[in-house]
Formats: sequence, C-alpha cells, structure tokens
Amino acid sequence: MHDLPFFEETHRKLAIGLETFVEREIAPLAAQDEAAVEDNAREYVLRLANAQLLQYAVRGEIRACSLIRYQLARASALADGMFAMQGLGALPILLSGNDAQKKAWLPKIEEGAIAGFALTEEGAGSDPSGMQLKASKVDDFYRLDGEKTFISNAGIADVLCVFARTEPGDKDEFSAFVVRGNAKRLKAKPIELMSPHPIGTLVFDSVDVKAAERLGPEGDGLRIALHTLDRFRTTVGAAACGMARRALDESVARAKKRVQFGKPIAAFQGIQFMLADMATELSAAELLVARAAWEADRGGEGLKTAAAMAKRFATDRAHAVIDRAVQIHGGSGVVKGSIVERLYRDIRALRIYEGTSEIQRLVIARALTR
Ligand SMILES: Cc1cc2nc3c(=O)[nH]c(=O)nc-3n(C[C@H](O)[C@H](O)[C@H](O)COP(=O)(O)OP(=O)(O)OC[C@H]3O[C@@H](n4cnc5c(N)ncnc54)[C@H](O)[C@@H]3O)c2cc1C
Repeated sequence: MHDLPFFEETHRKLAIGLETFVEREIAPLAAQDEAAVEDNAREYVLRLANAQLLQYAVRGEIRACSLIRYQLARASALADGMFAMQGLGALPILLSGNDAQKKAWLPKIEEGAIAGFALTEEGAGSDPSGMQLKASKVDDFYRLDGEKTFISNAGIADVLCVFARTEPGDKDEFSAFVVRGNAKRLKAKPIELMSPHPIGTLVFDSVDVKAAERLGPEGDGLRIALHTLDRFRTTVGAAACGMARRALDESVARAKKRVQFGKPIAAFQGIQFMLADMATELSAAELLVARAAWEADRGGEGLKTAAAMAKRFATDRAHAVIDRAVQIHGGSGVVKGSIVERLYRDIRALRIYEGTSEIQRLVIARALTR
C-alpha cells in the first residue's frame, strides 16, 4: 500500500522498517494471542512503545497509523487492536485537551500507558446520543454513574476518554472526561469475543473525576467523540486491507502447492478467477484507504466522506477476500488455529466497530443528498 502516490518518502521508509519489526517482535507472539489475551495485549503495547511507533498514534498521523495497522493486522489482530486503541484514546486529548492535559497524558500514552475510548452503552451503539452515563457536577469535580459496554481495554486501561451526559434530558449536553483506569469505584466486567481482544463493560458507581479532567467545554463531548472517530476511521480500513493481503498471500501460496486432479489447483480457472477478484478488490480498497488517509493528514473537507467510503468498502471487501481464502484452502481453511481460519474470525468485528457498514453508508448518502 505504501507504494501508492498518497504516501511520501518518510512513509515508505516507515513501512519498510515495519516489516522487519512485525516479523521479529509481533509475529512470534501471535500464536499465543488466544491463550494469553491480556498478557499479549500488554506486551504488544510495550513493544510498540519501545519501537517508538506509538508517537504516530498519539500525534494522530493517519497515513503513518494506516501503514502501521496494515502491517500489524497481517500478523496479529490483537496487536493491531492495541495500536488502534492508543490512537483512539489519545486523539480526544490531542484534539480538545488543554496544554496541561496534553502534557499530563500524551507522553504517557506514547510511552505505553494503555488507553481506552468509552462511548458505547447498552442503549447507545450506532446512536451515541442515546447515552445515559451521568456526570453530575459537585463542587470542583463530576460524579459519574452508569455503564459503558463493548469498551476495548476495559480492565487493563491506564487512562480512558469517557463520554457522559452532563445535563440529563438535553440531547446536546454531553461532555468528555479523562478518567484513570484505577479510579475508585470503577469496575470492569470482561466480554469474550470470537477473536482475541480485551474488551468489557465498565461500571461507574459514583466515580469522581476532577473538573480539570474535562476535555473542552461542557456540552462539547459528542462533537469530540465523533470528530475523533471521523479522523481515525480510515485506519480501520487499513487494518482490513492488511488482513486481506495476508489472506491473499496465503491463498496464492496454497493454490500453487496443493495438487488435485494431477495439477496444482492454481491451474484451474475457477481458482484463478477467485484470486484475480481478491487482488482487484484489495487494490481498490487500498486506494480508497490511501486517499482517505491523505485527506485526513491534509485536513481536507472531504475527510468524513472519504473515511466512511474507505472503512465501508475496505472492511466489506476484506471480508469477501478472506472468505474466498478459506474456500481456496478447502478443509484446512476451517481448521482451528490455521491462518485463514483466524483471519476469518478476526475480520468480522471491523464491519461493526467505529460505526457499522450501514452507518458509513448513511454518512456517504447524507453528504450526497444534503
Ligand atoms: C471489537 C469491538 C470493539 C469495540 N470497541 C469499542 C470501544 O473501545 N469503545 C466504544 O465506545 N465502543 C466500542 N465498540 C462498540 C461499537 O462501536 C458498537 O458495537 C457499534 O457502534 C455498533 O453499535 P451496536 O453494537 O450497539 O449495534 P446497533 O447500533 O444495535 O446496530 C445493530 C444493527 O442495526 C444497524 N443499524 C443501526 N442503526 C441503523 C440505521 N440508522 N440505519 C441502518 N442500519 C442501522 C447497524 O448497522 C447494525 O447492523 C466495539 C465493538 C466491537 C465489536
């Protein structure tokens, strides 16, 4: 992907170094992702910090983040998810924090403090304006009561950006807060997913947060959350492309090696057409992702739509590419622990988190029809 004209020389250098880093530091751990989700999650963040890769997440550099997610996702969905969360947790602070908040948190996240982004609730998924977590002002702090669910890094995060209702009943009165992971009366209940990922429900039972930890003015919370997602969304498409690229590589290798009817299955037109479609759809997805990442870095007006198109198309097509990879692998493609079986489970959540495919279509259609 880094060969595309939307990237610069510095990105290409980064991409080449990344291949070696992922091969040496990420791939050897990946086989243990299922058995040791939290341990590996922590270890990946540490290794990403030591390799000075988290600076790109913390600075919200979307082209660099896209290339990093692309490479990580080829080897480990868990490592990719951990990198992504450092960016999602840092971005609200970068975009809306004051100098003191930036100084207090951004270097820590860059050095490996685990970050989280807590928006979703049981009754507020695609429509975050339904959120009910309450932040009541008491003197110079806010008291948070309620629950967030499907929060990545729940239970292991050192710092979370949390979105809450500051004026119950009023649709626009949401605010954003920086909350320490070890805050008193904050509890986490894990949720197990089909692909290894640390995630859970956060229970806020009168959790006190200093008013100085509010990001931006009161009432700015939903804007901060949506702005963060708009900026980072393209990188989900990049991760999807990384997974699809791995599936394609595995499929080409398998098709050349596997012999049936006296020939490698790559000699059959049915298999060739599948490989051709996989490569074509993946190339189209990479182009959309690269364009959206470039748009994000230059701060272009088309960012929101470009990101929605890139995320929608890349995650949907990557799913189709990986499905065909399983088909090409035959029975060995559904053996638990095989690479394409793992990718088949890993890709699924990408069509759901940071806005489902349907919500991305709404964003694109709104821009067309407004
Ligand atoms: C792996 C993973 C990690 C996550 N990490 C985080 C995190 O760190 N922080 C966080 O805050 N959240 C996180 N989430 C939550 C995620 O953002 C939500 O799951 C997502 O926004 C969808 O919300 P929902 O699950 O409630 O689905 P719903 O909103 O209930 O949607 C159900 C279905 O209805 C469709 N639908 C809804 N509204 C419309 C509409 N208007 N038009 C057409 N179709 C519609 C959806 O597309 C979907 O197909 C994570 C989720 C996953 C799976």
